Amino acid sequence: MNLDPDDWSDVRDQGHGLMDLMLHHLETLRDQPLWRAPPGELRQGFREPLPRAGAPLSQVGEAFAETILPYSSGNAHPGFMGWVQGGGTVAGMLGEMLAAGLNANLGGRDHMALEVEQQVLGWTRQMFGFPADASGLFVTGASQANFMALLIARLRALGPRVRTAGVGRAPLIAYASRAVHGCVAGAMDMAGLGASQLRLVPTDADGRIRLDVLRAAIAADRAAGLAPFLLVGTAGTVDIGAIDDLDALADLAAAEDLHFHVDGALGALGVLAPSVAPMLKGLERADSIAFDWHKWGQTPYDAGFLLVRDPALHRGAFASEAAYLSRAERGLAAGDWWPCDYGPDLSRGFRALKTWFTIKTYGADALGQVIAQTCDLARELAARVAAEPALELMAPVALNIVCFRYVGAEADALNAEIVADLQEAGLVAPSLTRLDGRTAIRAAIVNHRTELRDIESLVASVLAAGRTASQRRAA
Ligand SMILES: *Cc1c(COP(=O)(O)O)cnc(C)c1O
Repeated sequence: MNLDPDDWSDVRDQGHGLMDLMLHHLETLRDQPLWRAPPGELRQGFREPLPRAGAPLSQVGEAFAETILPYSSGNAHPGFMGWVQGGGTVAGMLGEMLAAGLNANLGGRDHMALEVEQQVLGWTRQMFGFPADASGLFVTGASQANFMALLIARLRALGPRVRTAGVGRAPLIAYASRAVHGCVAGAMDMAGLGASQLRLVPTDADGRIRLDVLRAAIAADRAAGLAPFLLVGTAGTVDIGAIDDLDALADLAAAEDLHFHVDGALGALGVLAPSVAPMLKGLERADSIAFDWHKWGQTPYDAGFLLVRDPALHRGAFASEAAYLSRAERGLAAGDWWPCDYGPDLSRGFRALKTWFTIKTYGADALGQVIAQTCDLARELAARVAAEPALELMAPVALNIVCFRYVGAEADALNAEIVADLQEAGLVAPSLTRLDGRTAIRAAIVNHRTELRDIESLVASVLAAGRTASQRRAA
């Protein structure tokens, strides 16, 4: 028994057919609904028992084309502005297919795939102005990268004993702004330090961490006998895209001997856009950076990344000795860079290849142009909102996220209704957020396919849906 095809020429045709199906889908994205709710009977079809016997590949491919493809979450569509999600690319898709064919395991050993990941790491060091020996690797996403950075900071604070003896009663305290992504509190929880040991510092009018309050909080914790160990800056907050004053945070972290980590999931890749890069000043001084190639980098999901200044500290947080992982002088078990030493995963897929395809095919400048373009579109949207009496801008626009709302009675419920109407109509899809206790429509422009006409369509759709919903509510 082996699982290779009996008829390679037939499977070649099938493969070409599936490729054509997907390319056609991408070519015609704009003409398709952004999203539609999967019908109940379709979902029912996915409750079948474990298939004991196989089916022809053609049948499985047809099932994909009919039941999965039309009911995607829509983030590839040019009108998608809900949540911070990238659009994916053709080159990235092809890289992912080739990676699956190769079936490489990037836990370690001596093969060329690791050179690809190392090359992307090298480019990453260059982009962020990190030293030539800084370490880093692909992970699922910034949530995982933030968690790993926190474990590295924990090692720095408590020493190697923490890995065997645990955290005990160590009173470690971390700091971030109130606008920090929820995964950082989650990381404190998972690291055994406790989510409430993350101090959430208020933000200023631009959504940036307040340095005066931060300084006072650190002093108060030290006075109470607690041990500040980690300062997390955010480059692009998830709600409004604010960037903390990273230079000031780097100064403070140095003065207080804290590990300075930046959650740059959304914004760090802004270094590729000359118009955005100056806002990220200080990022080059971080001890570690978490970011996502799958957001502004447009690489297909998933492609998170962690970059760490001190390779010894990074390795010290994760490496372990296991006989079957021992390194040889030569042969397949040789190789001096084993990613399993730098994170919790042993077996790892070849995420680097789709990212490498994306960067090589389009070039870093084009990715930077896309980033700048999403910020231009956000500014344009903000201007149109400001010019429209029925709409109200809810937060300053630093990057690519615009929060606004339709003005009217019971505005929270009204705007929630508008957003649901828009998502179901399938032309443009913003999402909802809460700002200072008020519901806002949030348009996060991340996708390289989004154009001015999508912004115009968003404004027109919100106005139309707002009028209809107001009338419906008044009736
Ligand atoms: C998206 C995001 C995360 C989480 O990243 P994932 O890749 O979804 O795990 C963390 N922080 C910020 C600021 C984000 O925008």
